Amino acid sequence: MLKPFEVHVQAEPLTHFESELDAAAWSVLQEEAAKARALMAGLAFWNVSSTAQGGGVAEMVPRLVAYARGAGVDARWLVLSGTPEFFHITKRLHHALHGSSGDGSPLGAAEHARYDEVLRDNLEELLVLVRPGDVVLLHDPQTAGLAPALAAAGARVAWRCHVGRDTPNAEVARAWEFLAPGLTAARLTVFSRAAYVPPQCADRALVIQPSIDIFAVKNRPLSPEVARAILARTGLLRGTPDAPEPVFTRSDGVPARVSRGADIVRLGAEPEPDSPLVVQVSRWDPLKDPAGVLNGFALLLRQSPDLRAELVLAGPAVTSVADDPEAAATLQDVISLWRQQPHFVRRRVHLACLPMSDLEENAAIVNALQRHAAVVVQKSLQEGFGLTITEAMWKGRPVVASAVGGLQDQVVHGVNGLLVRDPGDPAEFASTVRSLLENPERAAQLGTRAQEHVRAHFTAARHLADFVRLIERLDT
Ligand code: UDP
Repeated sequence: MLKPFEVHVQAEPLTHFESELDAAAWSVLQEEAAKARALMAGLAFWNVSSTAQGGGVAEMVPRLVAYARGAGVDARWLVLSGTPEFFHITKRLHHALHGSSGDGSPLGAAEHARYDEVLRDNLEELLVLVRPGDVVLLHDPQTAGLAPALAAAGARVAWRCHVGRDTPNAEVARAWEFLAPGLTAARLTVFSRAAYVPPQCADRALVIQPSIDIFAVKNRPLSPEVARAILARTGLLRGTPDAPEPVFTRSDGVPARVSRGADIVRLGAEPEPDSPLVVQVSRWDPLKDPAGVLNGFALLLRQSPDLRAELVLAGPAVTSVADDPEAAATLQDVISLWRQQPHFVRRRVHLACLPMSDLEENAAIVNALQRHAAVVVQKSLQEGFGLTITEAMWKGRPVVASAVGGLQDQVVHGVNGLLVRDPGDPAEFASTVRSLLENPERAAQLGTRAQEHVRAHFTAARHLADFVRLIERLDT
């Protein structure tokens, strides 16, 4: 019997935001919190997703749950259990919503039956936990089929889709054919961009953009020296004798030392501490196009052999993301491509699987990597939103992102970062990255504006206000 499990999340006080928001925005946040308390009095707000670690949903949900709890709402997070077959089907759906055929496997009646079977198992426990009137926010294709039973039990069900494609194609239509029947039971559907809303959901769709928690371990300030020390401890940078301890502050305020090295594919030495790093941090997913980043960077090195830059492609340890069965194969493809490169490219490209056994330590490493990077890239072929780019922008880093999906809502080209128009074109990617490496002053300017943009649009404070709107809409 497959059961969902609850991830217990500590409340975070909203007072964190007092110092980051102006007086008017701070008072709005308090009003929204009071509204949320009143709307949810005596009821729970459940989030249901499919993995507790790895990827944007697992990043965002616990932070929002923490602040909602801090606001006095009984917010909870449940994670489904599934079989490898179930996650294969749902990954196929994930690709289809991005317009890609993935491995080309079918999404027919037999797959639907397997999918429903796993959800039926999970529902037994869910129906014990969820009470009439509770809000249940289901996340992504893995959970969509839960809507009918939960709605029938009296819950107010909304479904949030974190992925999508600007120009729907036949694959997108196939995904909706699979998902839409179950979703008729959802009172509301939530999308990251208006372009992602399918006709089947148009009458009850809300657009809510994702956010980051600027106070989380991943996004807290780290001095450049400590960031370098953390990277040296992880094996991503050459250490220096006078380096400070690789210490970060855990979410409970307790200092901790980064103790684990990453699993790194590299030829030769770690980058020197002053070597400009081009960094992409992503799950090992073909749509994140790690191979394209490698090809683009290799082209950059061929065109400018004297440019001092190295590439780090970092992702989670491949067995760690429960709902992402393709990670190992994608990483293998990148390693094979790396092996085919000439020596001078291999020497300057590092593939790193970051340890995931301690998620806060992992977050500290990602924080250090993003802060240390000369340029952070996200060269996705499709991207629902792209939290990695928000995280880098918050850290004032110059970013290069593909002009696809939600990345276009974050990066204003030439103002707070640069967009690559054709994500399939290594030459455009190479020249865009080069333009930043060669002009650090411009890069710094873009980075400064990037941080302002995130503060204005992509913090949890804004997101919580959107949730109040969502709860209000569920009542109408
Ligand atoms: N991430 C991480 N460790 C890794 C790789 C990724 O913590 O080794 C995080 C990353 O910092 C970001 C999230 O996973 O918070 C990825 O979210 P994004 O929206 O960029 O992509 P998704 O994985 O949801 O498609």
